[in-house]
Amino acid sequence: MNWPMLGIVETAGLVIILGAAVQVVMGFSSIAIRAAGSQRQAAAELESFKRRAGILLEQAKVERDRTESSWNGKRKFRIDRRVIENEAGDICSFYLVPHDGRPVPSFRPGQFLTFELPIPGEAQPVVRCYSLSDSPHEDYYRVSIKRQGPPPKAPEGTPPGLSSNYFHSQLKEGDIVEAMAPAGGFYLDEESERGVVLIGGGVGLTPVVSMLNSLIAHGSNREIWFFYGIRNREEHVMAEHLREIDRAHANVHLVVCYSRPDENCVQGVDYNSEGFVSVELFKSLLESNNYEFYICGPPPMMDMVTKDLEEWGVPEEHINFEAFGPATVKKTQEPVSDAAAGQTVEVVFAKSNKTLNWETAAGTLLEFGEANGIKMNSGCRSGGCGTCLTALREGEIEYIHRPGKKPEAGSCLVCIAQPTGRVVLDA
Ligand SMILES: Cc1cc2nc3c(=O)[nH]c(=O)nc-3n(C[C@H](O)[C@H](O)[C@H](O)COP(=O)(O)OP(=O)(O)OC[C@H]3O[C@@H](n4cnc5c(N)ncnc54)[C@H](O)[C@@H]3O)c2cc1C
Repeated sequence: MNWPMLGIVETAGLVIILGAAVQVVMGFSSIAIRAAGSQRQAAAELESFKRRAGILLEQAKVERDRTESSWNGKRKFRIDRRVIENEAGDICSFYLVPHDGRPVPSFRPGQFLTFELPIPGEAQPVVRCYSLSDSPHEDYYRVSIKRQGPPPKAPEGTPPGLSSNYFHSQLKEGDIVEAMAPAGGFYLDEESERGVVLIGGGVGLTPVVSMLNSLIAHGSNREIWFFYGIRNREEHVMAEHLREIDRAHANVHLVVCYSRPDENCVQGVDYNSEGFVSVELFKSLLESNNYEFYICGPPPMMDMVTKDLEEWGVPEEHINFEAFGPATVKKTQEPVSDAAAGQTVEVVFAKSNKTLNWETAAGTLLEFGEANGIKMNSGCRSGGCGTCLTALREGEIEYIHRPGKKPEAGSCLVCIAQPTGRVVLDA
């Protein structure tokens, strides 16, 4: 085709007209893009609103169910099933169903049951807590218990763990156990939509696996990271279950860390990373520190991870943790009052007829009492189960961290209490 020859003026005019036309087209398309964008945003907001409304409704139902069907004191459960969870054979799951045949009340993922066990040869029932290790949406409770042998450097003749060995060696399918209602302040914020990082070390995976299973049961589309630290394949529990969840859900990222892999362990198959679960690892995998962190594991791991998360700038309210025993994480053990700093305080154990001088180094009133031969009941030792509730006849105490449920005035949870002045305890 022959194009007509144009003069300078015509060419300039054509360029101006073309430029204006391009601007008009661009203007229209940007309006169209903006309109489509805001439509998409509105649709996404509506979707998010619907999801949140759904979660809130579900929460309200669960809350109602929890209050209506929960129980006071002890309740009998039948062991429906026992399942060994790892190659080492030292972690066993116990599936519990109510002996009275009524439905199991819901709980918050991360909470635990407190058992009172009539162990032969023990003068008193043995009280121990075990985290619920499955989602609250099941028609059973599940606890997964590690058999505790004597500590590695313990002298010859040191007895193995009482309760864990009782569960492993003596309790069979069909047997009955007694437990108090689910409790504990370490649980998943199910209303939040923020990304969540679940961190389990050793048998400490139990509460975080309950959180994971619960998120999956809800069809949550939150970004979920699951870091699991163990020594090697032998200790690895629920391996196939975790891998299946990882494979089936694009929003779930499973990272298994072996600290001491042996020749049977295959990287990329059994585990992802060699070494400990650490904040360095999070930094290499997570886009930012803007997640809610839930951590449960052995004390050295908890100490390191919580400290490093704080240093990474994660706000304290996004770092949730639980220790399986005395609260070992440092920040919970700082003195809580002026009276606690460097002074001695008189503590009267009225029933035992003993008056003793307490100081900060003596720890909680429970630890202080035990060190001085005073018998007091205890369970979780972290203010969650209520077993150590003791009447406070005189004086004031403060808690080293927030109790699961604040006791009524005139009583205190001695496992997390320190005196702020002279106190008289009914113990
Ligand atoms: C909130 C919470 C949740 C928990 N969840 C779980 C869970 O999901 N799974 C789980 O397995 N555990 C869990 N635990 C831990 C559990 O409650 C028990 O502490 C654990 O099973 C050990 O109890 P035990 O009776 O077997 O051992 P204990 O009898 O309490 O003994 C503990 C250790 O001390 C040693 N020992 C005994 N006597 C002596 C002595 N004289 N000198 C030196 N050492 C001695 C024993 O050999 C053993 O190694 C949880 C704890 C808490 C607080």
